[in-house]
Amino acid sequence: MGAFDGLRALVTGGASGIGLATARLLASQGAHVAILDLAQASPDGFAACVRADVGDDTSVTSAVSSAVDTLGGLDVLVNNAGIGAQGAVADNSDDEWHRVWDINVVGLVRVTRAALPALRSSAHGAIVNVSSIAATAGLPQRALYSATKGAVLSLTRAMAADLLAEGIRVNAVCPGTADTPWVARLLERTPDPAAEYAALAARQPHGRLVSADEVAAAITYLASPAAGSTTGTSLAVDGGMDGL
Ligand code: NAD
Repeated sequence: MGAFDGLRALVTGGASGIGLATARLLASQGAHVAILDLAQASPDGFAACVRADVGDDTSVTSAVSSAVDTLGGLDVLVNNAGIGAQGAVADNSDDEWHRVWDINVVGLVRVTRAALPALRSSAHGAIVNVSSIAATAGLPQRALYSATKGAVLSLTRAMAADLLAEGIRVNAVCPGTADTPWVARLLERTPDPAAEYAALAARQPHGRLVSADEVAAAITYLASPAAGSTTGTSLAVDGGMDGL
């Protein structure tokens, strides 16, 4: 018996990193899982992999509708798709602000809007939004990214309030620096990626990067019926960076 037997889940950004680890964990616990991603996901173990850009409402509407049709409904939505941005407050152009905001914040809203009619028909409706340590920790050179992830936390509480009466829970996770292809891509741009990785690990309170599986475990708990009394909150998965 899995915690998600008979439940249906949609994971955005599920082709890589935290999203892929979450999709796999949900499937291993009995969920029927659909992945929505800009990139082609490997369909292994998943009910559907739909291509869509969360920055494009038409693409999101048709992909969510196709995923929900294949799954036969929807109980769990994981809003994980996101992109990074570097720079202090004055370093990014208006275009960059609009582009990253449009993916990380409005993209989450687009997917949620498209998924809500199906979630409303579920007896176990749950949404988990992926925020970041950047939402609360005051990281240098991350002004735009931090603002979008702060908005994800604010949205989580507002959505939880709006959807409480309909029985849909909404929570967030705030990962610290996680060992995913995203971070690998950033390290590849440095002169010595191995040394940079070691330095990054040493800067974490617990001396290593967070694993994608650890973030997936937190997301999966918040999405599960076992978390039935938990809504409007966030769970840090950051080795103690924000809490200590
Ligand atoms: P990743 O780059 O490994 O995976 C992100 C996935 O999202 C990719 O498959 C990508 O194709 C997809 N994606 C990107 N833009 C998209 C779009 N417009 N439409 C649809 N799909 C899109 O990254 P990750 O590290 O697994 O990050 C996942 C989430 O976790 C992001 O929201 C990120 O902000 C958050 N996060 C990551 C870290 C970290 O250190 N890796 C820390 C905190 C929060």
